[in-house]
Amino acid sequence: MKDNFGRNITYLRFSVTDLCNLRCRYCMPEGGVAKLAHSDILSVEEIGEIVAAAASLGVTKVRLTGGEPLVRRGILDICRLVSAVPGITETCLTTNGTLLREFAAPLRAAGISRLNISLDTLDADRYREITRGGELAVALDGVAAAREAGFDYLKINAVLIGDGGVAPDEEIRALVELTRSPGTHVRFIELMPIGEMSDWSRSRYVENSAVLRAVPELAEHDTDGVARVYRLPGAPGAVGLISPVSSHFCPSCNRIRVTADGKLKPCLHSPEEINLRGLHGDALTDALRAGILAKPERHHIDSGASGSRRNMNAIGG
Ligand code: SAM
Ligand code: SF4
Repeated sequence: MKDNFGRNITYLRFSVTDLCNLRCRYCMPEGGVAKLAHSDILSVEEIGEIVAAAASLGVTKVRLTGGEPLVRRGILDICRLVSAVPGITETCLTTNGTLLREFAAPLRAAGISRLNISLDTLDADRYREITRGGELAVALDGVAAAREAGFDYLKINAVLIGDGGVAPDEEIRALVELTRSPGTHVRFIELMPIGEMSDWSRSRYVENSAVLRAVPELAEHDTDGVARVYRLPGAPGAVGLISPVSSHFCPSCNRIRVTADGKLKPCLHSPEEINLRGLHGDALTDALRAGILAKPERHHIDSGASGSRRNMNAIGG
């Protein structure tokens, strides 16, 4: 279905938990978040019902996210249910990768067609610092496990983090070099000021153009949804630049978001939320339709802060 600005909404990002086993500085408070009561988060069945209603309005792609979706109890049941909804042709999942040794093969069997793995650096000390204690080797083993399980198209999402407006060139180059492995794509995402960690994010923000300065041999190739796509000469994988701050891509936004506690967010950066909890049948479809029609034309984080009242872990990115 189209929103009020002619955008065709085909993509639902579903956060299945706001809990996580890491504490990335731009996303989560240091002390983590209070665990919601089981009854306060959507059940597996409610998630299936919402996805089916969204599919009836033209959604074809669902991305499961979080928090860390792989810490959600019943995640494989959720994957099976969502991927079986008529009309859903793509069920993807975004993860920090640390639990993929256990989950990669079952996720594939449960209908996940693509994985995005978040990895901001290949330097173990910096990874530990950014994630507040995570082990890079565990995340990299997760990437290897995904390959072994047959995910032969992997996107690595890297948030660009600098200091005083400068990002380490070696770090950018090392990530770009990953695209020399077949089926490995790297996407750099600009750090967004959102939630309690806004000040940290603002002080570490670097424009995505830093990637092109660090790796001048990158050649522009294409546009893919919200990303501008480049390639290293001879490398099979692509490098995507997603620049929500320096160049907002709102005119091509085709997504809505649902949080683990059952609120539809028409826009990542607006405070508006529409309750879906307790709704069934036509009432549920009507609420989703209202959410699509409530999508604002654009966000305004380029000129200030996000309007969202939630931290990123409670939205899903
Ligand atoms: N835990 C999973 C992961 O890290 O991939 C899924 C949830 S995480 C919230 C989804 C994506 O949002 C990650 O790629 C993460 O790097 C990104 N993210 C979180 N906070 C962000 C921020 N302030 N600015 C830009 N991206 C952010
Ligand atoms: Fe957890 Fe992902 Fe947020 Fe990092 S970005 S704290 S891995 S939810």
